[in-house]
Amino acid sequence: MATSAEKSAARLEPFVESGEAFRRLGGLESPAARERYDVVVIGGGQAGLSVGYYLRKRGLRFLILDASERVGDSWRKRWDSLRLFTPAKLDGLVGMKFPAPSNSFPTKDEMGDYLEAYAAKFELPVRTRTRVERLFQRDGGFVVKTNAGEIEAEQVVVAMANFQNHKLPSFARELRSDIVQMHSSDYRNPAQLRDGGVLIVGGGNSGAEIAKELSGAHEIWMSGGRPPGEAPIRMDSLASRLVLARLLMRVVFHRLLTVKTPMGRKVRPKVLNHATPLIRVKGKDLAALGVKRVGRVTGVADGRPLLEDGQVVDVTNVIWCTGFHPGFSWIDLPVFNERGEADHEAGVVTAAPGLYFVGLHFLYAMSSAMIHGVGRDAKRIVETIAGRARSVGAQAQLLSVAR
Ligand SMILES: Cc1cc2nc3c(=O)[nH]c(=O)nc-3n(C[C@H](O)[C@H](O)[C@H](O)COP(=O)(O)OP(=O)(O)OC[C@H]3O[C@@H](n4cnc5c(N)ncnc54)[C@H](O)[C@@H]3O)c2cc1C
Repeated sequence: MATSAEKSAARLEPFVESGEAFRRLGGLESPAARERYDVVVIGGGQAGLSVGYYLRKRGLRFLILDASERVGDSWRKRWDSLRLFTPAKLDGLVGMKFPAPSNSFPTKDEMGDYLEAYAAKFELPVRTRTRVERLFQRDGGFVVKTNAGEIEAEQVVVAMANFQNHKLPSFARELRSDIVQMHSSDYRNPAQLRDGGVLIVGGGNSGAEIAKELSGAHEIWMSGGRPPGEAPIRMDSLASRLVLARLLMRVVFHRLLTVKTPMGRKVRPKVLNHATPLIRVKGKDLAALGVKRVGRVTGVADGRPLLEDGQVVDVTNVIWCTGFHPGFSWIDLPVFNERGEADHEAGVVTAAPGLYFVGLHFLYAMSSAMIHGVGRDAKRIVETIAGRARSVGAQAQLLSVAR
């Protein structure tokens, strides 16, 4: 019997094409085969699919590009035991509920499969296995250079979370070779580790969740500065199921903390420069599990992690939960500020008209990078895209009449 993933893959066939299949068909090698769209969306996760949903409604010609094998892979590649911290009632994108009891917490694979089914349901044109290697401008339009050739676009949406590449301190390579080390993005399950102690470097949500998973079988040290704060509710409590989860996510994160409110503008820089507050696994839980808190790791001494107080930690495993870089080096446009961050106003890039971001942390609101919040940003950006398409079209018509 076909699995649900196989069934949804079969349903996807007419719409999702892989870059490899495209290359086999001749790809974009010859200039005659040059492809051109009103809009190219880069990234086919929840942000890109939400943008696609609204672009389709507007009737614009568009294509979604994604480097992964399958839609939903950014979720499938996370650690095996990961469950969403948001309940299913907050895990649906516009137009399609998440198919699970509203207060349950879906697994990461269920989320991946949901996204794949979403692309199929709305017939979104996703081209997988197509990595964008360079985005630049030529003759007033955008050129999207991929591993399968060039695609031209009037407008481009970079639709993805700003954590595509992992961050590691340079001294990580000085650790002894018999210490198993990995970044949290490569952690899958406890079988990857050696017996003995584990140092978790970084005390954000990934660090806290991985520490909890490993605490039964290993002695755990957790290194980091001040903990990033904690969500004031337990997501699985009765009060949360009844009202609090919705209140926190839909009212505080979605309505109160936005770039349009004084409170939102005040917290935004802090949110952007610090780890997200602990949501599911709190400091108290870690203490109860025996996780030992130590100071920051500042280097390596005799092949072992060295802490800021001079202590050397004798562990056989190190997991770097040290965060991510946006990974936007392929964007060859003057759209980054002196700190290397994308410069935009709620997703609209003024330095390169026709370019947009969706999915970035606090793009417009605290909810912008979350499943329940990304749809509002996608809708607003597509309205801007449609407005620009109309005015560029009208200008072109005027010019042709004048000629
Ligand atoms: C561990 C973890 C748990 C989370 N849990 C929750 C949760 O419970 N609830 C919630 O609301 N949010 C959660 N989030 C936050 C957020 O919902 C996810 O990070 C989500 O995956 C973001 O979706 P996205 O589409 O914006 O970006 P991504 O999921 O990162 O998708 C971006 C896509 O772009 C593609 N891509 C990247 N670069 C290129 C390129 N150059 N060319 C072509 N394609 C490219 C990638 O292949 C990927 O498929 C969690 C985040 C993490 C890290």
